Amino acid sequence: ASATAAGILAAHTREVADFPKPGVMFKDLTPLFRDPAAFDVVLADIAARWAGQVDVVAGVEARGFIIGAPLALRMGLGFVPIRKAGKLPGDTHARSYDLEYGTATIEVTTDAFTAGHRVLLVDDVLATGGTAAAACDLVEGAGAQVVGLEMLLELSFLGGRDRLPGREVRAILVD
Ligand code: AMP
Repeated sequence: ASATAAGILAAHTREVADFPKPGVMFKDLTPLFRDPAAFDVVLADIAARWAGQVDVVAGVEARGFIIGAPLALRMGLGFVPIRKAGKLPGDTHARSYDLEYGTATIEVTTDAFTAGHRVLLVDDVLATGGTAAAACDLVEGAGAQVVGLEMLLELSFLGGRDRLPGREVRAILVD
């Protein structure tokens, strides 16, 4: 990442202790999203990193949408939303994954990807990697290929990369 993008991201991340529950240091990127000049620098950095390597951008509900849609448009690519179960109409592929308590399911429409398309998967924070791993399985089960993951912030002490073996995982800032 450029020093500029990393510094701007750091300066526009609000850390909220004990949210949404005790012991979690929540990374709030809303200061970045409401500052167009700062958001532009971060998106330009991501677009430059993946230029020419991907055919489509996919993002996981909800913050993956905020980053993924403007990124895709800037790269001249389409955007595919990966949503929580029950939100997308028509035929979908689904993957369930374990949370700390219980399970979650994510879905994508069966017409979302062209076979063999190279996908960049985007989210705001890589924590345990459970969501990203499930999203990779979902995309590849739908016939496309995940060529990289862009996570703006990586919480390396949670070991998310270990759940994404062999994947090209990129973060602008690593804690
Ligand atoms: P995980 O599946 O554990 O990697 O966490 C995935 C989702 O939870 C990501 O989409 C993140 O947006 C969100 N998340 C997890 N930990 C944090 C955190 N400390 N701050 C902000 N978002 C987080």
